Amino acid sequence: MQYHKINAEDIKELIALIGVANVVVEEDKMDMYSRDEVSDKNWEKMPEVVVLPENTQQVSAVMKWANNKLVPVIPRGGGTGLAAGAVPLNGGLILSLERMNQILEIDNHNLFMVLEPGISTGDVQRAAKEHGLFYAGDPCSAESSFIGGNVATNAGGNRAVKYGTTSRHVYGLEVVMPNGDIVTFGGKNVKDVSGYDVIHLLVGSEGTLGVITKIWLKLMPLPKYVATLLVPFKEMQEAINVVPKIMTAGIIPTCLEFMDSESIKASELYLNKKLPYSDCGAYIICQVDGTTEQQVESEYEIIGKICLDNAAMEVFVSDNMASEERIWKARKAYAEALRMISPVYCMEDIVVPVSNIPKALEEIDKIAKKFKCRIPSAGHAGDGNIHCTILREDRDEHTWHELKDAVLEEIYAAVYQLEGSLTGEHGVGAKRVEAQAKHMDPTAMGVLKAVKAAFDPNNIMNPGKVLPL
Ligand SMILES: Cc1cc2nc3c(=O)[nH]c(=O)nc-3n(C[C@H](O)[C@H](O)[C@H](O)COP(=O)(O)OP(=O)(O)OC[C@H]3O[C@@H](n4cnc5c(N)ncnc54)[C@H](O)[C@@H]3O)c2cc1C
Repeated sequence: MQYHKINAEDIKELIALIGVANVVVEEDKMDMYSRDEVSDKNWEKMPEVVVLPENTQQVSAVMKWANNKLVPVIPRGGGTGLAAGAVPLNGGLILSLERMNQILEIDNHNLFMVLEPGISTGDVQRAAKEHGLFYAGDPCSAESSFIGGNVATNAGGNRAVKYGTTSRHVYGLEVVMPNGDIVTFGGKNVKDVSGYDVIHLLVGSEGTLGVITKIWLKLMPLPKYVATLLVPFKEMQEAINVVPKIMTAGIIPTCLEFMDSESIKASELYLNKKLPYSDCGAYIICQVDGTTEQQVESEYEIIGKICLDNAAMEVFVSDNMASEERIWKARKAYAEALRMISPVYCMEDIVVPVSNIPKALEEIDKIAKKFKCRIPSAGHAGDGNIHCTILREDRDEHTWHELKDAVLEEIYAAVYQLEGSLTGEHGVGAKRVEAQAKHMDPTAMGVLKAVKAAFDPNNIMNPGKVLPL
């Protein structure tokens, strides 16, 4: 596909469409839009221009313009993606949703929030809480990712074990199609089976099918009681073996996370705070919530007993905000903390059936030993979702790329052997396009390509992401 390269005349046209204040061309100002959170220069590229529309009509005008000119459009939320999904690797313009950041309605009767995409997930959670309501989505990046980005990537996060991924909370979407048409699917109806379920095709489409400009989010009553357990184990395998036992004990925990010893030590270093039993082999972090104190207490007692019966060194229970925060800070610091050990790394996001987690971690350990590299792991154990991170450390560029590619090849092969998939929540973006194409059934790949062609016949929406160019 030959795309049009943006020139000075084009910039004038964009300014005429959405105003000079909403068009950025200066390199120093565009620099922050040239990357996401993938820590590798190979996944960076300067945009030709950045546009900051203020409303859906402006998004539509830009899309119509880009479709006529054959200019790639890369929608962007908070830029916290871990798959180079919001990077203009094939040229074109960045369409940042940061100025569309209004909560339009909180409906206490139907338990809905209607909002624009450019609001941070943390602000969504707090706004719901102020109304005594609960938005269950909770990626570790909540303070910097946008709700629109969460929808576009179908973000998972800590509470997905009990409440599901972002898709579970989305009941309606307004979308600007690649040709500029504005269309709404769904809304506040809790049930609606008219037509195809386009909403859940758009959720997780990573900006390749359209621009999400308005979202109907389902809220829930705020759980009154919450308790978090921090459970250290001497050995990683002991910790991970306990996960299927908890998941089959008749309780659905809100969160069930794990951290291996390297991740614990990295977080301790990053936070500059002593963590309990930080020389242990692994932590399990488990949260339960509910409407009565007795329910929460009885659930955490059952989980605590399962852990102690299965080699836990100790069970710490936090049932107040301060100790809750301390525990979650350690877990949420994982990605940032690893940067202190190795500024460049390759964070993976594999997912396997929960019962196969112990085997998956065994395989990762074998691969790390075989290639003599460090691969710290942490993640959403209750979802079978493991973030294993290959560290570059002091390797030169060439050795690093050879090592990373060889390690990834073996990790992905092991994951598919274990009936897993290469990304549980971070997405395919640009980073995993090749690997996905290699492992996905060709007929399934054909269906994906047909969907893309139906939405975006000119392939201008985030080209080269999810599917090969
Ligand atoms: C420290 C850290 C912790 C993280 N923890 C988690 C976690 O627990 N769970 C998890 O799932 N992810 C996690 N992530 C990854 C990331 O935060 C999520 O993928 C998040 O949903 C991305 O949101 P964003 O607003 O930053 O999107 P961006 O990075 O800006 O974009 C991501 C993708 O969505 C598309 N997009 C963005 N907005 C729109 C829109 N309005 N319309 C159409 N397409 C759009 C982009 O084109 C791109 O393909 C983490 C990242 C970091 C750095």
